[in-house]
Amino acid sequence: MRLNTDLALRRACAPIISDDVAIGVGEGWSRIVRDALVSIWDIHPAIRLQQVKAKMGGLVLFADGRHRRISWQAQEVIDAVRRRASDQSLTTCELCGHSGRLIHAGEWRVRCDGCEADQILRQRLASVCVHQVEEACRYYIAASISAGHLSDLERVIMPIGGLSPQEHAWFLDEVHDRLTWWRAGSRIDGVDERLREPFRGLVLTDDGDRQRLALDQRTRRAGEIRAAALAYVRECGRRNVVVDIEVFGNGRWKRDGAAKRQVMVDALRDEIARGVAVVDVWRRFEVPGTIARRLVGARSYGDLYRILMVQDMEPGFRPGDIALWVKAGKMSSEEGMSILGIEDPTDFAALLAAFPAG
Ligand SMILES: [Zn+2]
Repeated sequence: MRLNTDLALRRACAPIISDDVAIGVGEGWSRIVRDALVSIWDIHPAIRLQQVKAKMGGLVLFADGRHRRISWQAQEVIDAVRRRASDQSLTTCELCGHSGRLIHAGEWRVRCDGCEADQILRQRLASVCVHQVEEACRYYIAASISAGHLSDLERVIMPIGGLSPQEHAWFLDEVHDRLTWWRAGSRIDGVDERLREPFRGLVLTDDGDRQRLALDQRTRRAGEIRAAALAYVRECGRRNVVVDIEVFGNGRWKRDGAAKRQVMVDALRDEIARGVAVVDVWRRFEVPGTIARRLVGARSYGDLYRILMVQDMEPGFRPGDIALWVKAGKMSSEEGMSILGIEDPTDFAALLAAFPAG
């Protein structure tokens, strides 16, 4: 993962991930990790992530929830978030974030066709350039500490003679990887471990401003963000699709400048991932369960009810109500299935059977 992505992720999810826990996955999964961490943090702020890594090709998140007196309901919702993140990672290229597939070739990995085609050349470059990569890390760490801030790696590390532009880009990816791992506690030959703490205190030059802007907007416009989240979910309900959130947000904040607009769209995405707006609209019959489930990555209506429970929100209806309405002819089976987000008629028949009429 790139150093700036790693730092942005930590900033968005602090304090649930500490500096000595590596985010040991590729750039392509950064959004999945971020959404999962923000959701977990929201469910229980005392949770601490212990591992973020790829295992058997997929994303694995380990949290220490079981030791922190977290209710089983919250734990269930956290498990659902972790499963969803893992499922998403299995169809997302770990390197570039495009759609990918699980490949088994010596090791398991998820790659798109383009990245898989480059895999061997990329690995060969990494093994040939091991020493140059470490040299670049040593230089970058020393230069950053003496400057008192982090600069874009691309501007600090000059291309090595003989490398094509593509190879130089892969080389920089390696340097980014090693730096993020080192920052979290791994070793690089010839780098003094005592430099780690001061390095952790550094921020990217233009990051301070961006950070202040994001915090300021999220605080001052919190009400606006919540209202936008409700409007977004209703729009999904009205059109019966998962509306592109970027397009929706850009339209809603079209009068803001690009930087502010991006902050607001990111805040909106986080607000949807929290699930509160989604279940609030769902419990009022304004978005079908099928869409609500997709918005929060819920496996079944049970997950939606769990969010309501954890948030201490009253459900507008219960599965038993739906079953009785359908049996009484007040609602069609299709409507009942859509409201609860049940896709399999057999499952719905089982629900109806569980609630005898009268
Ligand atoms: Zn790819």
